Amino acid sequence: MGADNEDGTTPQVGDEKEKGPIIVLLVGAPGSGKSTFCEHVMKSSSRSWARICQDTINNGKAGTKPQCLKSAATALKEGKSVFIDRCNLDKEQRAEFLKLDGSTKEVHAVVLDFPAQVCISRSVKRTGHEGNLQGGKAAAVVNRMLQKKELPQLTEGFKRITFCQNDSEVQAAIKVYSALGPAETLPNGCFGQKTPKAKVQLGIMKFLKKVEVPANEDSPSSHIVQIPVHETVDVEKNQRPAGQESSSLLSGGANKNIQECQDPHKHVVDASVSSVPTLAFPSISTSDFQFENEKASDIIVEKVEEFVNKIRNARLVLVDLSHRSKILSLVKGKAAQRNIDSNKFFTFVGDITKLYSQGGLRCNIIANAANWRLKPGGGGVNAAIFNAAGPALEVSTRDCAKSLLPGHAVAVPLTSDSPLYTREGVTHVIHVLGPNMNPQRPNCLNDNYAKGCEVLRGAYTSLFESFASLVKTQVTEVGTSGQNPAGLKSLSSITEQKNKRDDECDSERRKKYKGMQGDEKMSEENRRNVVSKTWGSWAQALYDIAMHPGRHEGQLLEVCDDVVVLNDQYPKAKKHLLVLSCQRGLDQLADVNQEHIEQLRTMHSVGLKWAESFLQEDSSLVFRLGYHSEPSMRQLHLHVISQDFDSGHLKNKKHWNSFNTAFFRDSVDVMEEISSQGKATVSNDNEKHLSMELRCHRCRSAHPNIPRLKSHVKQCQAPFPSQLLENGRLVFQSIL
Ligand code: AMP
Repeated sequence: MGADNEDGTTPQVGDEKEKGPIIVLLVGAPGSGKSTFCEHVMKSSSRSWARICQDTINNGKAGTKPQCLKSAATALKEGKSVFIDRCNLDKEQRAEFLKLDGSTKEVHAVVLDFPAQVCISRSVKRTGHEGNLQGGKAAAVVNRMLQKKELPQLTEGFKRITFCQNDSEVQAAIKVYSALGPAETLPNGCFGQKTPKAKVQLGIMKFLKKVEVPANEDSPSSHIVQIPVHETVDVEKNQRPAGQESSSLLSGGANKNIQECQDPHKHVVDASVSSVPTLAFPSISTSDFQFENEKASDIIVEKVEEFVNKIRNARLVLVDLSHRSKILSLVKGKAAQRNIDSNKFFTFVGDITKLYSQGGLRCNIIANAANWRLKPGGGGVNAAIFNAAGPALEVSTRDCAKSLLPGHAVAVPLTSDSPLYTREGVTHVIHVLGPNMNPQRPNCLNDNYAKGCEVLRGAYTSLFESFASLVKTQVTEVGTSGQNPAGLKSLSSITEQKNKRDDECDSERRKKYKGMQGDEKMSEENRRNVVSKTWGSWAQALYDIAMHPGRHEGQLLEVCDDVVVLNDQYPKAKKHLLVLSCQRGLDQLADVNQEHIEQLRTMHSVGLKWAESFLQEDSSLVFRLGYHSEPSMRQLHLHVISQDFDSGHLKNKKHWNSFNTAFFRDSVDVMEEISSQGKATVSNDNEKHLSMELRCHRCRSAHPNIPRLKSHVKQCQAPFPSQLLENGRLVFQSIL
């Protein structure tokens, strides 16, 4: 006699029902524990069992349903009971097994009805799975399959159905079947079902933009790419004690949702997140910098809260490797206390370089707790990110910045050949440098937490602003379709387009990313649209300086009323300065109106003063002061540029034409226009100006390329055109 049933009955021997082999269909998603169930029963059962598994039916490889049916029939003929170990999630999938052997056998179902995230979490984690359904692709398949789920009913032809919704129910069912002797039968009926008409797990598919699922349900193909799993899949801790709510996987502000959501299925995946721009960031105050966790967590929560209140359609995810992470649990608790929207911020345990492939979490931008030299190495997250991204990240980083000050961030686009891009769908890495309290490391603050907290706040502000700027660029993207294998739009391609007229950094970068969307693909109108409304993170440097001059002291030549002066980082002539307005809201010439006239005058007179001082050193110089009609860098800035154009940074037609066509608006003219009309004339033909033939700015002779033009300019002694000599447009010795 076998053990008691879970419903208090015992197996029956020799009653009127037919005894002998039975068919047991396991019903459950990948990761629900079907194979484990069979193994346990078969290990201790006195019955003769055959396990028919579609993942291995074809000589150890994945096979088809007809092969399963055939093998099952053979086993039954041999007097064996059979387990049909495949998902069997819908009625249609089950029907033929119920007709096996002319229905003369008793057919049971054992339903392993676990929440999706439990199955996803197990599937993502497992290795060596028979059907190779593991790792990142598993999440999409599980979600897709559960969409089809129809719980079995007796009317389909089952004699007995056992529903298991937690580990202890599974153990009980294993006990029942293990104890079922060859001549015994089990009572008919449904057992363990808590909500008899339980609905299909609704709505999961709406979270998935695109998931390919193989026809062969248990044998997923390997090219499934989009896994918009919103919940925190704790990659490290996905085996939970029996009965523990799967919602414990969620962390941070997500707790609020958990309490509200009694149905474990409902908070599996958040609806709208499949393509939500997501920034995953580690704690910027790394343990190596020995910054107090309590203070760091306060700042993270403060800055996150500030950010999530500002942005509508983006998410932040704080990531750490271990569920024992102090900073993660502090932030999680504090975020929950502050009721931070869990759709916009949550914490995640996992490797930041494998969020998609191991955790099923799509993050298109990741932050790096970088070192000041922006170099690989040093262990920790910095080493991991540089390693995972491949050498391209070092090259791209060098193109964007040589070093980083504490409290600052720099966004670096990833090239399309970077494994982080292809495998994880990451388009940008934002390097951030936090404050250091470790005397063994550079820039130690010697326990000055007032300064440290200020720097850390600055670091998160810069990080989130950088992210917001990339998101903004993505949202207003027009006319491009670059997608990486994770289905994410290539932000790099967008910034490349916007960036096309800028400094050497840009032109070099374009060369390196030539596989991406080209400038040519974007219409002039669209380009203008993007340029006038969005600023990529690389275009924020001047804005950052204007807003926080104190952070850039070493870089500035002068800080005075409302303006700062600095050397152009990529001077296009022997002397090339920028006079930067510090007024918020003045991004470019188009934003200037009558109320800014004083600001323009200040900028002009400061620029003039600098030109004069250079002329005292070198009286052969000639200066021109003016604005670009359509600047590449955010924040109104006046160029003060000597007319020799003798610089290695002047490399292409756009560089030349941006200073020598109507694209360049003389400061004196701009001031006049603002005074008289309230607006500066900004040409609509910028593209045309920038692509004009190369002409000497003095004698107007044409030249085929930049080297030829430059060698001509070096020796050209022709007088400047009269138009430039009028109205103080040129500044030179004789007029001073
Ligand atoms: P515009 O096209 O008028 O926006 O010019 C932007 C200028 O800023 C270019 O001449 C660049 O060489 C220069 N530039 C770019 N990044 C920086 C930076 N971080 N610091 C100073 N100048 C910069």
